[in-house]
Amino acid sequence: MSSHGSARSVPEIIATKRDGGTLVEADLHRLIESFTAGTTPDYQMTAFTMAVYFQGMTFDETVALTTAMRDSGKTLKFKSLQGPIVDKHSTGGVGDKATIALAPMVASCGAVVPTMSGRGLGHTGGTLDKLESIPGFHVGLSEDALRKQLARTGCALIGQTNELAPADRRLYALRDVTATVESIPLITASILSKKLAAGIEHLVLDVKVGRGAFMKTFQDAKALAKSLVRVGRTAGTQVSAILTDMNSPLGFAVGNAIETAEALDVLHGRGPDDVTEVTFALGAEMLRSAGIAKSEASARRRLESAVANGDALAKMRELVRAQGGDPRVVDEPDRLPKAKYRAKVAASQSGYVRDIDAQEVGRASMRLGAGRTRAEDAVDPSAGVLLHAQRGDQVESGQPLATLYAAKRSLLAQVRGQVLDAITIGRSKPRKRPRIIETLRR
Ligand code: URA
Repeated sequence: MSSHGSARSVPEIIATKRDGGTLVEADLHRLIESFTAGTTPDYQMTAFTMAVYFQGMTFDETVALTTAMRDSGKTLKFKSLQGPIVDKHSTGGVGDKATIALAPMVASCGAVVPTMSGRGLGHTGGTLDKLESIPGFHVGLSEDALRKQLARTGCALIGQTNELAPADRRLYALRDVTATVESIPLITASILSKKLAAGIEHLVLDVKVGRGAFMKTFQDAKALAKSLVRVGRTAGTQVSAILTDMNSPLGFAVGNAIETAEALDVLHGRGPDDVTEVTFALGAEMLRSAGIAKSEASARRRLESAVANGDALAKMRELVRAQGGDPRVVDEPDRLPKAKYRAKVAASQSGYVRDIDAQEVGRASMRLGAGRTRAEDAVDPSAGVLLHAQRGDQVESGQPLATLYAAKRSLLAQVRGQVLDAITIGRSKPRKRPRIIETLRR
């Protein structure tokens, strides 16, 4: 069958993939079109994604799936705006608040940054949930409002609109509940289809690796990064990927309002070292790949001066005001929602923090109310886990290791043991683990 020849029926497509065969472009376009139109039901799509989970996809199949999903809805073009269109996307982690600081930082250096983010997924947090902890902030902009805001402020932090890559939204929800998230071709098509549909010209990906990430091993994360870079380039956008460590949470805060406060700290130049390191590495790659800076070193200098001279903060105030939020929060994070109940978790022995299990801290934060167990659940903006120590720190027995925040006292008792178990204390100081592992450009 030629690559554009008559497509197989949906049961034939599923069987071909199940048996390790190769699908052609027409098959994948037919499947995604009929799924988007509602004629291919969820049960067939789920059988298909499980077949892909086990059999994988060739490069050509992944490109075809990506473009089919991109074309399942509207595609935006922002050509009339001043500046290159740049975005960043993370494959998902715990305590990962880099996006919140990146959009204003990079926009204040001259790029246009229409960041479309997601909600929390599993044990990982979502940028939209974090932003909504800012009183009044809304993440749902119409296309017209988005264009106007980008023309005025150069950045936006919004949710994926209903019109963009609708096949991804529906497929993602199915994958979430059918154990088919952790598939390299499916993640590649999911991330790239929505970024291509959103008209992004330069995309920088934060590919997380480790216990708190969907890719647990370096080999898998690197294979995902390579797939994203190659497929993105073939489908028409420039992609680079930075592999970053997600064995332990990024920064100290894991929850919605407390993570927003920590991202604001980065803009004030007082963020935790690891959050600052990851944010600047991604921001420098965004400026370099968009051609705003010639080298990584000059991109870094631009970002450092935007933070030092207050331009990045001013851009954040503009962005918050433009999206209906209270801009005073940017300078007075105490205005963010506060939990009714809190409890400290203390070290049961003295020594060094040898490890903090990101997945377990993410799960504990979810159970405190910061995440969802069903798609329709509301999150509690004030809930979460604020760590007081990081991997490598020396602690004394009885010293607080974390503060738990929740709306109900009973929740605190339920997760206290889980947080304590997530933090391993030992006699010797662990070797430093760099957050930035590798950058892939082509
Ligand atoms: N993020 C996405 O947008 N899609 C995936 O499949 C995984 C992480």
